Amino acid sequence: MILDDFLSFDANGLYCRYGDFYLDPKQPVAKAVITHAHADHAVSGNTNVYATTATIAFMQLRYGKSAGKVIYTADYNAPFELGGVQITFIPAGHMPGSAQVLMEYKRARYLYTGDYKLQPDSTCEPMQFVKADVLITESTFAEPNTAHPDPVEEIKKLNDIKVNILLGAYSLGKSQRLIRMINDYAPQKKILVHHRIMPINAIYEKMGFALGKHQMYGRKLMKTQEEWVYIVPPFTFDSYLRATGVKRLFASGWKNLQVNAQDTLFISDHADWADILHTIEQTQPKQVWTLHGEGKHLRDHFKNDIFVKLLN
Ligand SMILES: [Zn+2]
Ligand SMILES: [Zn+2]
Repeated sequence: MILDDFLSFDANGLYCRYGDFYLDPKQPVAKAVITHAHADHAVSGNTNVYATTATIAFMQLRYGKSAGKVIYTADYNAPFELGGVQITFIPAGHMPGSAQVLMEYKRARYLYTGDYKLQPDSTCEPMQFVKADVLITESTFAEPNTAHPDPVEEIKKLNDIKVNILLGAYSLGKSQRLIRMINDYAPQKKILVHHRIMPINAIYEKMGFALGKHQMYGRKLMKTQEEWVYIVPPFTFDSYLRATGVKRLFASGWKNLQVNAQDTLFISDHADWADILHTIEQTQPKQVWTLHGEGKHLRDHFKNDIFVKLLN
């Protein structure tokens, strides 16, 4: 039997009253199940943290000891119990260690996707589909007119740019995917990386996700036009606003927010409309609960076929 109040939002975030834990809480809590290490999902200061090994490694890099007082790691597809709820992490294809959270309670299966993507990405574990009674999905891009372009075609745009490139990207996840893809699809480019990104790359390599050739940025480099691509986090990108002799590009999945398509590589780490529909088809849920975005388009789409509930 599906319990309608199995998950609900309170001041700290998404809460499961039957297991007394939070999923990706916004504030530090007693028991936090964390899907992946992006800062909007993984906060510091939780007492008990439950996550994959990779998620914990990234959290410890960012937060040190504040990553959590007591840390529990679980492998993918290895169930464990939390307050009477059986929990299993399933690969989400979003970044290394990213997990969907399968929760089984009183013979009902609830699957919280966290952030996920279906596009191929050799810098993380691929998304895995499992069946569930209730699919709790993010709906960041849950609008019928969202369709992410082919990321390979986006990366190949770099081949047409002959001047040095300053490429802005989020440090964790996006930067590493870009390094791998530039090596694969624009191999003549010489990749420089901001020093803040390098320790994250080291964790990737240690986990067996080879990124390909790249080196740490140095002041003496990039003085000449040698098809350099310098990958920097957003705050550094903004500080180079008036840089001359370089093409500034930002890698983003947010098509609507970008003013100028000439200055953007559209590479998203989220599911678009077709991907969400495909995930629902594979998961075969009786109900879909939505969060992070607009669930109303899914509700209109499935009308009487699947019950869609908007959690926020
Ligand atoms: Zn994320
Ligand atoms: Zn997110």
